Amino acid sequence: MKPLTIQAALALAAIVMSAPSFAQPALAQDPIALIHANVIDVRTGAVTRDATVTLREGRIERIAREAPPPGIRTFDLKGKYLVPGLIDAHTHLDNLRAARRALESGVTTIRSASVGSFRDVAIRELSKKGVIAGPDVVAAGIFVTTELGQDDVLADPALADALTAPDTAEKLRRIVRVNLAHGVDVIKTRGTERAGSPGTDPRQQSFTEQELRAVVEEAAKKGIPVECHAHGEEGARGAVLAGVRSIEHGTYMSDDTLRLMKERGTFLMPNYSTSIDLMQPGGDYDDPALQIRGQHMVPRRRSLIQRAHQMGIKIVTGTDTGYGPQSVTRIGQEIAAFASMGFTPLQAIQAATLTGAELLRIEKQTGAIEPGLEADLIAVDGNPLEDIIVVQDPLLVISNGRIGLNRLEFGKKTATSLSSEY
Ligand SMILES: [Zn+2]
Repeated sequence: MKPLTIQAALALAAIVMSAPSFAQPALAQDPIALIHANVIDVRTGAVTRDATVTLREGRIERIAREAPPPGIRTFDLKGKYLVPGLIDAHTHLDNLRAARRALESGVTTIRSASVGSFRDVAIRELSKKGVIAGPDVVAAGIFVTTELGQDDVLADPALADALTAPDTAEKLRRIVRVNLAHGVDVIKTRGTERAGSPGTDPRQQSFTEQELRAVVEEAAKKGIPVECHAHGEEGARGAVLAGVRSIEHGTYMSDDTLRLMKERGTFLMPNYSTSIDLMQPGGDYDDPALQIRGQHMVPRRRSLIQRAHQMGIKIVTGTDTGYGPQSVTRIGQEIAAFASMGFTPLQAIQAATLTGAELLRIEKQTGAIEPGLEADLIAVDGNPLEDIIVVQDPLLVISNGRIGLNRLEFGKKTATSLSSEY
């Protein structure tokens, strides 16, 4: 090999140094004791005061009023409150920085609502193996719709076959099959057009009940549920009748269709904070036409959530963001918003924990602070059952027993805080 010139060596060094250290070794899952914690039981609202919570091998081992086991790494919570890690059940998160932003906002589990190129499946594996400190991911793969983006069609040659299918139902079935082959956990499809694009009308139905039934049937062959974007009444009703597991958004749904959801146990994912983002400059949406649209969507979305809650429909928190650098939507806001719409603070927290876990079919793994469940917890500065706003500012985030964020000691860098850069 020829010796490198100084310039070439410097250029090579710059490349090596600027390369993000994605391939870092698996993050520590050492035993941890959280002492002097006030632990919230999200099933009942009961608080265990001054408890020691022991975490081992990524799981919650013990919650008791006792001294921590000797020789274990200890964090003194000094009376701060522990809540289960939050669930964001509607995201478009497709990169590692975004995964970190989600984690630092207190989200320890996300359900994807489709991203390009099956990136959510890859992020799921990196997080599962502890290569990144990210939330656990329930992956949706690519959007099951007839208008695929370039990022999707170029991700798998098998999609050429889907695009040339003889009719819509068959096209959708084939896209479902490609997703299933990539190991997705859920399928995302649509009953209506988008709200977040000025050129489409969210009331417009996109697929019929029969077409959506093809999607539900195809996914069910592998036991996979379907989440369905729908704003308008006809599209949402068709989706509920077709048997989807959740309606995403639901802005213009009638009481009649809500009753049908209640009967069938269909979940509602309203994404209220996103409609606020639509209405305001900046954030994920920054378009005057959408700001006008947001102004008349927000009160409808609010009414939808209140009516659905009164009917006892299961409602789950989701941000509908990709956690990009401009994103201003977080799950803590969604919880606080629910608490302003007739939910008790406990019910609002349940939407982001127990009910979210049930929607994602992971209630045996996460969603509460109980021995045997995953060590997914956040510490907040006060009792959220009395002052819900504290959930918007987590001070400690632990996902699968790995420290994702530690701000317990303000202004002091600790060995446990990870760089905000990957
Ligand atoms: Zn979405």
